[in-house]
Amino acid sequence: MKKWNLVVDVARCHNSQNCFLSVVDEYAGNEYPGYTAEMPLHGHRWIDILRNERGQAPMVDVAYLPTMCNHCDDAPCMAAAENDAITKRADGIVMIDPEKSKGQKHLVNACPYGAIWWNEELEVPQAWNFDAHLLDRGWKEPRCVQACPTGALRSYLIEDTDMAARVERDSLEVLHPEHGAHPRVYYRNLGQFTKCFIGGSVAGDIAGVEECLSGAVAVLRKGAEKIAEIETDAFGDFKFDFLDADSGEYSVEIMHADFSSTTLNVELAASVYMGLIKLEPR
Ligand code: SF4
Repeated sequence: MKKWNLVVDVARCHNSQNCFLSVVDEYAGNEYPGYTAEMPLHGHRWIDILRNERGQAPMVDVAYLPTMCNHCDDAPCMAAAENDAITKRADGIVMIDPEKSKGQKHLVNACPYGAIWWNEELEVPQAWNFDAHLLDRGWKEPRCVQACPTGALRSYLIEDTDMAARVERDSLEVLHPEHGAHPRVYYRNLGQFTKCFIGGSVAGDIAGVEECLSGAVAVLRKGAEKIAEIETDAFGDFKFDFLDADSGEYSVEIMHADFSSTTLNVELAASVYMGLIKLEPR
């Protein structure tokens, strides 16, 4: 049986908000009997784009993380629902019944991802339902996928075995696997949002002028263990990415054929720019 999955590429999301707007356009003021009651115009973010800024000037980057109902295969919300108010369809989509769920405000807190919103006026819990009403009418993808201008969102109606192969091939991850909910929403390049970097810039005097040193070798170590080795770019910059936050002390050794090597220690709490590292001529 083919089931729906969503893949979000964090590297491609540039916060256009088109996915969020497509949901508002589809559901605000529109009810779909048997699927969902209408979404309030304000206050709900059934697709919510989170933002994470990393580093310090001049080495700063920002990543955006679209989040939504994960259509979990072991959904904690389903377990908490009374009266079969939340069910999983054979195609993998998790549905909150707008009639049966009426008054069940506790379901908002039952979702460990914060994906359920409480409609105060109608007294119903609501979440993004993969646009099931459109898919059932023959649509090939939900509106958020269609609306994304960068192709950051892709939906797949495929067998679980094929999805597992895709997860393996593309190193896809899910949010908070420790919840054990087994989401059907996967992320590519998730580390750009969740991990940290150690970066810096390397310079040296050439003919009396301070120049960026491209092609210098930077080696990252944790204790005696070598973690990674990279070369500085045309601007003399290096960046070791996808490191765990609060992962303790590292050392960075910088080497260049025409300059003396230097080694600096750095404590990694959050992403850190080590500043300008000037090498002395040999
Ligand atoms: S993300 Fe939350 S609301 Fe969606 S299926 Fe999982 S537990 Fe339920």
